[in-house]
Amino acid sequence: MQKQGNTANRLHGEIMERSGQDFYNCIQCGKCTAGCPVVSAMDLLPREILLYLQMGEEEKLLDSKTPWICASCFTCGARCIKDLDLSRIMEAIRAKMLRPRGVTCLSPGEIPKEQLEKLPQQALVSGFRKYTR
Ligand code: SF4
Ligand code: SF4
Repeated sequence: MQKQGNTANRLHGEIMERSGQDFYNCIQCGKCTAGCPVVSAMDLLPREILLYLQMGEEEKLLDSKTPWICASCFTCGARCIKDLDLSRIMEAIRAKMLRPRGVTCLSPGEIPKEQLEKLPQQALVSGFRKYTR
């Protein structure tokens, strides 16, 4: 139990530093999850991400596909009664997954030039935020 408490405290510090969001403010009301447009593709619901953060269940979070499925659409943040920006927390979890491993999953040089010209700039910026260190 003590170990889990320590993990939760460490996670809290890391996520706060990376996202500026305090996941302990979440009261599990589920409004974020009810409005998420891609929830059917997620293995953990958005509110479950908050719950596992609060419980210090780091392995469950790092094994989940949900942070990668999140489309950073900000709907959850607009609905949250506690003003939590869950898209920033998802981004912080993705960064946590990538940075310790020193992985860069996408670099501009790997995208064919013809696709670079066609892809919306917003999609490119979102992709680089998601998949690069
Ligand atoms: S930002 Fe992510 S978690 Fe939040 S509603 Fe959009 S897709 Fe769902
Ligand atoms: S809407 Fe906000 S308070 Fe409610 S479950 Fe989602 S993150 Fe937590």
